[in-house]
Amino acid sequence: AEATGIQSALEKLGILEINEGSSTGSENFSSGELISSYSPVDGALIAKVKSTTKEDYEKVVQTASEAFQSWRKKPAPLRGEIVRQIAERLRELKEPLGKLVSYEMGKSYQEGLGEVQEMIDICDFAVGLSRQLHGLTMHSERPGHRMYEQYHPLGIVGVISAFNFPVAVWSWNTALAWVCGDVCVWKPSEKTPLCGIACQNIVAEVFKENGLPEGISCLINGDYKVGEFMTHDKRIPLVSATGSIRMGKIVAQAVAARLGKSLLELGGNNAIIVTPDADIKMTVIGAVFGAVGTAGQRCTSTRRLIVHDSVYDKVKQAVVDAYKQLRIGNPLDENNHVGPLIDKDAVSKYQAALEKVEKEGGKIIVEGGVLSGEGYESGCYVKPAIAEAKNDFEIVQEETFAPILYLMKYSGNVENAIAMQNGVVQGLSSAIMTNNLREAEAFLSVAGSDCGIANVNIGTSGAEIGGAFGGEKETGGGRESGSDAWKIYMRRQTNTINYTTELPLAQGIKFEL
Ligand code: NAD
Repeated sequence: AEATGIQSALEKLGILEINEGSSTGSENFSSGELISSYSPVDGALIAKVKSTTKEDYEKVVQTASEAFQSWRKKPAPLRGEIVRQIAERLRELKEPLGKLVSYEMGKSYQEGLGEVQEMIDICDFAVGLSRQLHGLTMHSERPGHRMYEQYHPLGIVGVISAFNFPVAVWSWNTALAWVCGDVCVWKPSEKTPLCGIACQNIVAEVFKENGLPEGISCLINGDYKVGEFMTHDKRIPLVSATGSIRMGKIVAQAVAARLGKSLLELGGNNAIIVTPDADIKMTVIGAVFGAVGTAGQRCTSTRRLIVHDSVYDKVKQAVVDAYKQLRIGNPLDENNHVGPLIDKDAVSKYQAALEKVEKEGGKIIVEGGVLSGEGYESGCYVKPAIAEAKNDFEIVQEETFAPILYLMKYSGNVENAIAMQNGVVQGLSSAIMTNNLREAEAFLSVAGSDCGIANVNIGTSGAEIGGAFGGEKETGGGRESGSDAWKIYMRRQTNTINYTTELPLAQGIKFEL
């Protein structure tokens, strides 16, 4: 751990009791069993974190509820000022936090830094938003009446996040929720608990410096059982959950059973359509980064390449050649392109998917495999693989969270490719590579891509925070981050005010006394 500089990064992030059980931020409510966090980079135990018991959880919700009473009354632009200070702190701690993300989760250091940059960007966005929580003004049909709408905070927002974006997803939710006047309770993935503690330490300090209660931001630790405390809790009006479709179906039903709101960001099965007019060089960069970046563990990773038969062989050759240049190894070493998978469980799923695609009739054209030997001791490093497959194979229909790219052919016009791209249950990200205006517009049209994200001449992965992020169908329908995604964190109220001495009724109804 020392060789990677991780020890000093942890110290800068206020995580001091390495290997001995760390607290959940300064409030330290958690008293349950210890969760061990192992790095997929070198297999080392980084630290142990106490999980949250039901009794601890009750205290957390109490603290959050109390904090909400005062936080909601603070004017939104002043809440924005606090988020501005959080962004400043993130700028100062970008390197150690990026390093921890890389070491605990396994993505490259560059991507770890990128994730922290995304946190800074969403905070900046939220600061501006704090003066723009606009409602509309309507014209009343009644004389001497005024009608308008306003947005009020909801209360406690529960955030459940996945391991693959261990810090950014939290900030997408919290930066907006805080300027909206909500307080947040976060359950990070049990696979990346230290990232959670680091973030909690950062914001706790800012709240403290400003004389604000830490309950504005609460952290709970543990597996799905701890997540269930929130999904079943009526005191949590909104649960924002990021993770697998399997998890989303359970969370959605639990929250709906109590008529709460859920914001779901679930799995993707993202494709790039490559048309005869595509720029092949751009296609290769977009497809390869999309398929192997974060070792194929992004919700927007490119999983399918749908290529026109007239350019199929050329594209196939170019992608296969590009894979030969990939360097797999320690993600903290900037010379490597591909780091490890999150754990050995993920490695088994990757192996099973490669076996299954062959069994279903697919042909592996870039061999996969688990790496061993020096530098690969954690057992989590795998070779990015490519298989020629059919869209209707069972394994192609699933999201395997690993670097496996399925290559498939289409013939005829672009509508055939769009039908294949849409022919899966997920609907997160999609892309078309073309210089043909008609094809590009068909892809974006009402009869085009059915995904929440549809790109032209860029790949499927790597979204900017300015747009609303999320997907359709079994991806869950939620939207986070930019545009008007903030509205889900607030309740809308319509107000009608009568400034006359008469009481006319709507729709001209007469009611004389
Ligand atoms: P996961 O579903 O295993 O876990 C995600 C989170 O949900 C964890 O914190 C987990 O503890 C919690 N959880 C699981 N079951 C729960 C339950 N019944 N009640 C409450 N909480 C529960 O997912 P993962 O392996 O951590 O992440 C990978 C998945 O996340 C992929 O499918 C990926 O596509 C998806 N993802 C989606 C987005 C998006 O924005 N659409 C972003 C990142 C990841």
